[in-house]
Amino acid sequence: MSYPALSPSAHVVVVGAGLAGWRLCEALRREGFLGEISLLGDEAHAPYDRPPLSKQVLSGKWAPEQTSLIKDDALSSVNFVPNFSALSLEGTTVTASNGRRVTGDHVVIATGTRARPAPWTARGLCEVRNLDDVAALRSAVEGLPPGGVVAVIGAGFIGAEVATGLVALGKTPLVFEAQERPLQSILGETVARWLEPLAGDAGIELRSSQRISEVTGELGNYTIHFDDGSRVTVGVVVVGIGALPNAEWVASSGLDTHNGVTVDEFLHASDRVSAVGDVAHFRWRRGPFDDTVRIEHWQVANDHAAYLAKALTQGTDAVGPLSMVPYFWSDQYGKKIQVLGHPHPSDDVTMVTGSFAERKWLALYSHDGLLTGAISLSQPRALMMCRALLESHVTLSEALDASPWAT
Ligand SMILES: Cc1cc2nc3c(=O)[nH]c(=O)nc-3n(C[C@H](O)[C@H](O)[C@H](O)COP(=O)(O)OP(=O)(O)OC[C@H]3O[C@@H](n4cnc5c(N)ncnc54)[C@H](O)[C@@H]3O)c2cc1C
Repeated sequence: MSYPALSPSAHVVVVGAGLAGWRLCEALRREGFLGEISLLGDEAHAPYDRPPLSKQVLSGKWAPEQTSLIKDDALSSVNFVPNFSALSLEGTTVTASNGRRVTGDHVVIATGTRARPAPWTARGLCEVRNLDDVAALRSAVEGLPPGGVVAVIGAGFIGAEVATGLVALGKTPLVFEAQERPLQSILGETVARWLEPLAGDAGIELRSSQRISEVTGELGNYTIHFDDGSRVTVGVVVVGIGALPNAEWVASSGLDTHNGVTVDEFLHASDRVSAVGDVAHFRWRRGPFDDTVRIEHWQVANDHAAYLAKALTQGTDAVGPLSMVPYFWSDQYGKKIQVLGHPHPSDDVTMVTGSFAERKWLALYSHDGLLTGAISLSQPRALMMCRALLESHVTLSEALDASPWAT
């Protein structure tokens, strides 16, 4: 399969004005695309960056405006339509909930993910997915006395970062995690064991293997009910239990939306529709591995956008399929976790430098003797030295022989 370049006068409609959507607009202009670009987003805000929300914005180090992704007057290079909540896609026509329709020559779906809704009856539970959520959480905790307890349900990346931010605000997070160890289902048991003490090191109480049956109440007075009959009462609850792709609005188009929007190795769902970022369920071939994945990382959204802009302006024969080394980071409990590659939680793990006791280490993931990823705790330089290994699909023993982290 190959796709030709867009005509220079084509109209590209980008749905979702977040990171991937905006980066695609920037990259199309950088690649010299002169046609019309419509950027349709359901938020009132111009494109902004999400990682700082649970870090600098929650803790008060940054004003919300500092998350803006727009440099100077760059937004004027596109037709930006805020408050446009896409409801359906037919061909290349996007229809909003208010009936407004936009038709282009090529549609790019960049609608990201939303927080997985809490399955409990309580009202006003906080989450951190967008600017308005952080404002609501900051205002909710302002009403608490110094040291007031805030329950954080879920000790994944967002929950851990929120707990860290709450300490900076002078509050006392109490973190509840369903798994035996946080991040176990993502990073595997070995790495989860190594990361488990970080919360305690930072003076944050983390309770694992928690079975929450119900949360009742409203802001200022919540009760968390556990399967064993115990209860905890707190004033504010933040829920971070994962994310779901915003793909339902595309379902009527006939495209595959069973886990986001399924696209091929050129990020195309059809010759006139593509998807990028968190919502894209994309075919990804690297070395001996070939599967279809959906990856919710900041860097992957950037890489998708840069790739698709080239594919749309030059044609896929000229650029070949998507190729990248995924990367993500998380700042939690005063430490930085960084991961390169796409390890599976069941992959083997080998610590190659540093130690658990120092809380500074680098480890490699491998599957059937092939390198699949690298992870570090507070070892950013050593981690980045592994990028070339992942690009060249080496075996674990070749990686150990090369040991670029030791240089
Ligand atoms: C709090 C937080 C912290 C994070 N921290 C990190 C981190 O430390 N490291 C890391 O690698 N990644 C992090 N991420 C993930 C990273 O931000 C995402 O991978 C990235 O934002 C994905 O970009 P996207 O454009 O696909 O989605 P988004 O940035 O979510 O943008 C999607 C946009 O589409 C809009 N939209 C949704 N549905 C519709 C519709 N029907 N019509 C119109 N518009 C719609 C959404 O409102 C949103 O504006 C974090 C995410 C969050 C929420």
